[in-house]
Amino acid sequence: MNFEELDLNEIKLSMPLSIQFDLTYQCNLNCHFCYNSSGTCRKDELNFSEWKELCDEIVRSGGVFQCILSGGESLIKCRRMFQILDILGGDNTSFILNTNGTLITDDIADKLLEYRWYWIQVSLDSHIESVHNCIRGNAMSYQKTVISIKKLTSRGLPVVIACTLTNDNCESIEEMTEFAADMGASGIIFSEVFWSGRASQDDIMNKNNRRKLTETIDKLHNRYIGRMDVNLGKTAEEEIADFYQKSPTGIVVRPNGDVKLNCVLPYIIGNIRKDSISDIWERVYRKEVIKSVIQNLDLNNKMPDDIVLF
Ligand code: SF4
Repeated sequence: MNFEELDLNEIKLSMPLSIQFDLTYQCNLNCHFCYNSSGTCRKDELNFSEWKELCDEIVRSGGVFQCILSGGESLIKCRRMFQILDILGGDNTSFILNTNGTLITDDIADKLLEYRWYWIQVSLDSHIESVHNCIRGNAMSYQKTVISIKKLTSRGLPVVIACTLTNDNCESIEEMTEFAADMGASGIIFSEVFWSGRASQDDIMNKNNRRKLTETIDKLHNRYIGRMDVNLGKTAEEEIADFYQKSPTGIVVRPNGDVKLNCVLPYIIGNIRKDSISDIWERVYRKEVIKSVIQNLDLNNKMPDDIVLF
């Protein structure tokens, strides 16, 4: 079901349709543009039983259609991830997994077949090994990720390649798209670096490259129809416009239980250690309060650190 196409503007939902779980701050890679500064595990992360309690509470409160598992690197917390897949999957939730693809074994790929997937999103920034490894800060990441993508596609799992664009790799979008299609991906999504966390101004594409981008993606989108979806990810500006124009459908739970409106906006609207999920969800409808702070965001600068709103 694609709930994003529903007109929800007149409806106040009692629970989100979609929930993203950032399972850990920990990551085995070290991308210099990581928008949430992932790297090491932190002491305040929710533990195994707290994630379980949250999932049980979601099921008791009516459930969600979609759960996005993200991080850090989700697969570092494999036990936690499969526990969530079991509880919410048993309640008919479908999933998206965001992963850098370096930790997928044959056993993990086999186990992933047990769940319903919108898609499994694997980060790969170039078809050229040295370019990808340099961006991801790890000399072995390309090999591991490409092997993992093939493990998933050969099992019929729907893989979407997430390619983050900088001035270094934006000239080879066409080659990258063909490489993704050859590996059997069902989609590729190109996104610009989001200026937050570890990202610096140097990671942001220059105006000239940005201008060419939409044209190239449109052309590729049409060329690959019937073979693979080719899309451009939303910019921070577009995410904010959506917040103004559309009814909210989802929230993001950070590894320490803080809940945010989405991945882009730096506003915390509760913490699952002290508030119920339905109480937190109610707060997304306090749009006037939220809009009054969004107005102060300067998108020509780096996104500020998280700000507690409620
Ligand atoms: S961008 Fe993804 S793979 Fe890279 S450090 Fe951050 S969480 Fe890890």
